Amino acid sequence: MANITVFCRFRPLSSKEKRDNGDSVCIRSMDSETFVFKDEKEEEFAFSFDKVFYEESLQADVYEFLALPIVRGAVNAVNGTIITYGQTGAGKTYSMEGPSILELDDLKKGLLPRVVDGLFECIKSADKSDKYRIKLSMVEIYMEKVRDLLDLTKDNILIKESKVQGILLSGVTEICISDPADALQSLSSGIANRAVGETQMNMASSRSHCIYIFTVQSELSDKRVKTGKLILVDLAGSEKVEKTGAEGKVLEEAKTINKSLSVLGNVINALTCGPTTKASHIPYRDSKLTRILQDALGGNSRTALLCCCSPSPLNAAETLSTLRFGARAKHI
Ligand code: ADP
Ligand code: MG
Repeated sequence: MANITVFCRFRPLSSKEKRDNGDSVCIRSMDSETFVFKDEKEEEFAFSFDKVFYEESLQADVYEFLALPIVRGAVNAVNGTIITYGQTGAGKTYSMEGPSILELDDLKKGLLPRVVDGLFECIKSADKSDKYRIKLSMVEIYMEKVRDLLDLTKDNILIKESKVQGILLSGVTEICISDPADALQSLSSGIANRAVGETQMNMASSRSHCIYIFTVQSELSDKRVKTGKLILVDLAGSEKVEKTGAEGKVLEEAKTINKSLSVLGNVINALTCGPTTKASHIPYRDSKLTRILQDALGGNSRTALLCCCSPSPLNAAETLSTLRFGARAKHI
């Protein structure tokens, strides 16, 4: 049965939120797992998660609670997924990368650089006779098309399934990374490829899902080979664009995103439903996102969902929808 933990993180108020609405916030902390959320009509809702990271939370704490167990698992061939969910501007990319992927200030580094360090540390402390190899792929899903961020000429990667290797991204670039600095360079160039799209496709980075795939292969002293896949996903913004009267391409993007996020919710639901659920009942095939995540979400695997939120009453409607997504993923 899938092991899914759900976390919630509130970023600090932005200067714009402060300017427009002062210091007021829409949440009241109860403890490290529970808070009360107040909607626009002053109605109150209590939410509980595996852990709540409030405004003053440290990047290092988010890594330790949410990612470290998954990183250790991946080195021991247990697949894992870390997903950031939330409206645009809620802190998904800050949590994933930090202010920049090459951030030097250790306080500000996000999950990705810490995951990279963690993977290499775990390998260093593993049995010296085992041989490890870490490979990195990066893709972006935009309008249900998978683009290779490490080679932009591959702009329509197909998803295939093999009996032995499971879900495969056909022909995707896989870079062998030899140390953390090497990994950060590759991540940085992949992210820059995403940023190119951003100006060309009008804020595409918030309209696409970005997927980082680390494959950890180990050859043990008895020649057995084990593979652990660790996938990090910086999701497209969950805001309900169609309600704002969007038209044309923006509306099409919004529909595609909403569909894939709702399929993700359905898959997580089906997985947390109980041990009797058959694979055939889990709707992985309903979106590219869940198809790519199929191995990492199902079976013997661990998933952490980080629901990123603004604490401002100005964003209360979107925050409530994010919290409900998280709550639905948590318990049935
Ligand atoms: P998203 O990726 O969800 O669209 P970002 O991660 O880009 O949102 O965050 C929006 C803004 O808020 C950025 O300027 C970012 O630096 C800032 N921010 C987000 N989370 C935090 C945090 N925990 N601490 C400080 N600043 C943050
Ligand atoms: Mg972002």
